[in-house]
Amino acid sequence: MIIELEKNDKFLADVEEAVRKAGCTPEVIHGAMFNVVAVEGHTANLSEDHLKAFPGVVKVWRVSSRYKTINRIAKGPDNSVLEKPRRVIKIKGTDGHTRRISDDNYIFIAGPCAVESKEQVTKIADRLKRLGDKYGITDRIILRGGAFKPRTRPTDFRGLGMKGVEILDKIRDKTGMPYVTEVMSVDMVKELSEHADMLQLGTRNYQNFNLLEEVGKQKKPVLYKRGIAAPLEEWLDAAEYIANQGNKNIILCERGVKSTTHGDYNRSHIDLDVIPTIKERTILPVFIDPSHSSGIDKLVPFQFRAATAYGANGTITEVMHDTQDRKLLKCDAAQALTLSDYEKLIQFQLTYEKAFSEAA
Ligand code: PEP
Ligand code: MN
Repeated sequence: MIIELEKNDKFLADVEEAVRKAGCTPEVIHGAMFNVVAVEGHTANLSEDHLKAFPGVVKVWRVSSRYKTINRIAKGPDNSVLEKPRRVIKIKGTDGHTRRISDDNYIFIAGPCAVESKEQVTKIADRLKRLGDKYGITDRIILRGGAFKPRTRPTDFRGLGMKGVEILDKIRDKTGMPYVTEVMSVDMVKELSEHADMLQLGTRNYQNFNLLEEVGKQKKPVLYKRGIAAPLEEWLDAAEYIANQGNKNIILCERGVKSTTHGDYNRSHIDLDVIPTIKERTILPVFIDPSHSSGIDKLVPFQFRAATAYGANGTITEVMHDTQDRKLLKCDAAQALTLSDYEKLIQFQLTYEKAFSEAA
């Protein structure tokens, strides 16, 4: 539901109070001429006539758009349209730097597929920290690392569990870098949200609606991967399960989809067209995961650079330390990029940004 009203603090406060009393959340958009209150939650308890009677209220209308909470456009009857601004997501590191995910600030998430040992992640995190200092991008780097791993075969390494989380916590204490880790089940959401700075929902859980709702009830930002064969619109519908529980800090992450033309040269196909489409259709930022999408380290830089050209808000990339013996990695060994190769991608990204801003 959308409520348009004259610009006046008292009028606005009264409307906000009425919305909250009905158990809904008011989201205020301050316009030049009018204030607009986008009402979120179950609006059935709110009567349009009741709201229209409030002083200053000009118009009240119900939204008919699909995936209402995350849609960029709220459409109603009589051609009423409201365009909402893109969401800016902030993650504060214990180093005092805030990672701001927004259209004007590209974010680098990198780290191992799985947390295998403290030594392994420490080496990676230390190098990432040095890269942050060297390029002045400390406030743009986030560490990744899976403690609970979804694996195709039950006999494969499935992560260190809470021991892995403890390692990530310790490394954050040391480096100040925030981290993202995957949550696989409803019963782990609360606990993991008390540790991680961002929760990841994996491709296999894209339509695990109970899990989506649980993640939507907690406050940490959510990196939400596309399902392995998910049509874009169904993915956005599913994201609404998170958003309508109150958590709109969602980053949609394209990680490749399976297609019938799938061959032996990559793991899945990247669908870069979702980047501008998601930006056009939703208020959410969009990331690319070139690692799971390609499955091969040699392809990762191509996908990474293409994502930049397409306007991605960031990437999540699996990396390994330069001296790591790839064969010994317990998870996704073929796709890990060495940190030296990752540094080249940082250089690429920064060069691109500079050229683009000079050209603009
Ligand atoms: C991951 O990022 O660790 C992962 C398992 O990715 P996906 O869910 O995209 O396969
Ligand atoms: Mn992986």
